[in-house]
Amino acid sequence: MSSVFPLSGESTASREFAIDVVRQLRAAGAVAYWAGGCVRDLLMGQRAKDYDVATSAPPEHVRTLFGKKRTLSVGASFGVIVVLPTVPGAEPVEVATFRTEGPYHDGRRPSQVTFATPEEDARRRDFTINGMFYDPLEQRVLDFVGGQADIEVRRLRAIGDPLERMTEDKLRMLRAVRFAATLEFELDPQTRDAVRQMAGEIQVVSAERIAQELRRVLAHPQRARGFELMSETGLLPVLFPELTNETQPAAAVLAVLPKCARFELAAAAMWHTLPATPHEPRTRQEAAGTVWDIARRLKLSVHEMQSIAWLVSHQNQWHTAILQTDAQLKRILAHPLATDLRHLVRALAASRGASQLSSDFIDAYLAEHSHEQIHPPELVSGRDLIESGLRPGPRFKEILDTLRDAQLNGELRDRETALERLRKMIAPA
Ligand code: ATP
Ligand code: MG
Repeated sequence: MSSVFPLSGESTASREFAIDVVRQLRAAGAVAYWAGGCVRDLLMGQRAKDYDVATSAPPEHVRTLFGKKRTLSVGASFGVIVVLPTVPGAEPVEVATFRTEGPYHDGRRPSQVTFATPEEDARRRDFTINGMFYDPLEQRVLDFVGGQADIEVRRLRAIGDPLERMTEDKLRMLRAVRFAATLEFELDPQTRDAVRQMAGEIQVVSAERIAQELRRVLAHPQRARGFELMSETGLLPVLFPELTNETQPAAAVLAVLPKCARFELAAAAMWHTLPATPHEPRTRQEAAGTVWDIARRLKLSVHEMQSIAWLVSHQNQWHTAILQTDAQLKRILAHPLATDLRHLVRALAASRGASQLSSDFIDAYLAEHSHEQIHPPELVSGRDLIESGLRPGPRFKEILDTLRDAQLNGELRDRETALERLRKMIAPA
């Protein structure tokens, strides 16, 4: 259960501070260990992202010990106190009192917590690899749940009865996928079956928490494995019913995901077969079944939504590049996401063995046109329109767009000609 195991790892300010927090708790007569993710990461020989401490000291004692000013009570009802660092460059340490949780009534969070023993605290955690403690003073691992053995064989396994654990907190299903994918662990068959059985209930979890997990899976180099696991466990069709019956696109998605190194790009790859418009639909009906619909449902940020919808909606324009006017092409190529779109379209075409003709055409176009030619400074601005007596509105924008198109198409080369054209446009008929 407890084994001496000096964990290597460079001495960082955060690590020193996290040792110090344990030392102080211990000096005050409490039991205190590092817990959870940091123990897992260190046992795997990786750098710990942050250090969490679990202790027998109740939250009030933790606050008294470290001082009100140096602590934040973030989850007092869960017994979690953040201790702010005294060491420059160190991260805050979360100190949580050993607890049990339950019962879970809503499949999301426990109705109450009770302070408990270290072993009970280990057992309320989600996966064996996340359920270990480490005593940094005596260099001992405390493993009540078989986490070390699972790290050894690279297996992600729920603590206790997988079905019960997924029923208590449905987010654990997505966490299972994320940890298995990102750590490159096998998903233990019973844990996988439990996720499969419960997948339909992932919906009870808040959009924000689902989106947060998706971001972490899709931003990770192992995102294709994450996608595959979501598909195998049945989470994918529940999260995105819009994607069902698309076996062919799923294969294309799997093939391109390794190259989609950002969340927005990966999401665009995942949803590339769905309808999207460059502009946000005004009503729910208009958005139904589209990329916008999913993005809104997940409560993605406006920037994320716009980026994903732009990428998905401009694929077609890319395919028909040869038929586009210079202005149309330049507008796409001047967009901040143009390079991402370029990679996405190429990768998708490659995965299907489709022609790269339009991408080749665009690459040649890019080679022949300077940035200045693709994205030249505007010849006329809104100010010019106002000075000509126009007021901002739809007509205003239309005129600006027409002038810009003419400029990009090479019809207007200098400001004088552009102003001349403006005068003609607004002259009374
Ligand atoms: P990372 O921060 O790298 O995602 P982590 O293991 O630190 O991994 P956190 O979400 O920070 O994950 O949670 C810290 C610890 O709390 C976990 O290691 C696990 O022991 C426990 N935990 C977190 N979320 C849950 C959950 N939904 N159910 C049960 N235990 C959980
Ligand atoms: Mg963590």
